[in-house]
Amino acid sequence: MKRNKVIAGNWKMYKNNSEAQQLANQIKIRSTEIKKTEIILCPPFSALALVHEQVKDSSIAVGAQNLYWEKEGAFTGEISAGMIKSCGAAYVIIGHSERRQYFGETDATVNKRIKAALAEGLKAIVCVGESLDQRESGVTAKVIETQVTAGLEGLSKDDMKNLIIAYEPVWAIGTGKTATPEQAQEVHAQIRGLIDAQFGSDVAEKIKIQYGGSVKPENAETLLSQPDIDGALVGGACLKAETFLPIIQAAELL
Ligand code: PEP
Repeated sequence: MKRNKVIAGNWKMYKNNSEAQQLANQIKIRSTEIKKTEIILCPPFSALALVHEQVKDSSIAVGAQNLYWEKEGAFTGEISAGMIKSCGAAYVIIGHSERRQYFGETDATVNKRIKAALAEGLKAIVCVGESLDQRESGVTAKVIETQVTAGLEGLSKDDMKNLIIAYEPVWAIGTGKTATPEQAQEVHAQIRGLIDAQFGSDVAEKIKIQYGGSVKPENAETLLSQPDIDGALVGGACLKAETFLPIIQAAELL
């Protein structure tokens, strides 16, 4: 089944408001030819509303990088799904490896966050991926299986329509090391198989699985042409229009 590609840019903790506005505007102006590929910009919370304002007359979507699962309350420093929605965002990244590594995110909290996002009508980009140690000790498939099954526990087939999975090998994030297209394809096919087992083949065929980990203009086409790679979650290369746009254009041509 042919699935249109989805390219998301994770701006992480980069870009103050004037830089965010400028980058969003450059991407908007220079992506008017893009028709099939979905573009999602994920700025820091502080620039969400501003970036939404900048791109709202285009087909570019906006996403947050995290959320807290409670609706509101005494949770200093946290942001709820409803608050994200009110900034005009349609997506939220959940379970990024930096959240798992530095902020104690687990499969159980990923699951709570996904449910809170979906309940508010947000779409979730759910990240999974193994560390270097795990890859080298041969447990990649087991780690991915646990993250997918525990992370998506209790979701319905309908919920899955609003989910994207991002396979991001931790050893390839921000390191310049990219998984080979074959390594990435192998895990993407495994993830699709897990979704098939958990939710059925109709869901598995449709779900989009992005690859993330040092995607750049030079490697985008070979990665994106793998049969089970439906897009990219881009970190470093999304911070400049000159490096983000060629990735989107590579996706559009496939
Ligand atoms: C990411 O942050 O999700 C990511 C994949 O980063 P990078 O492209 O810099 O490896």
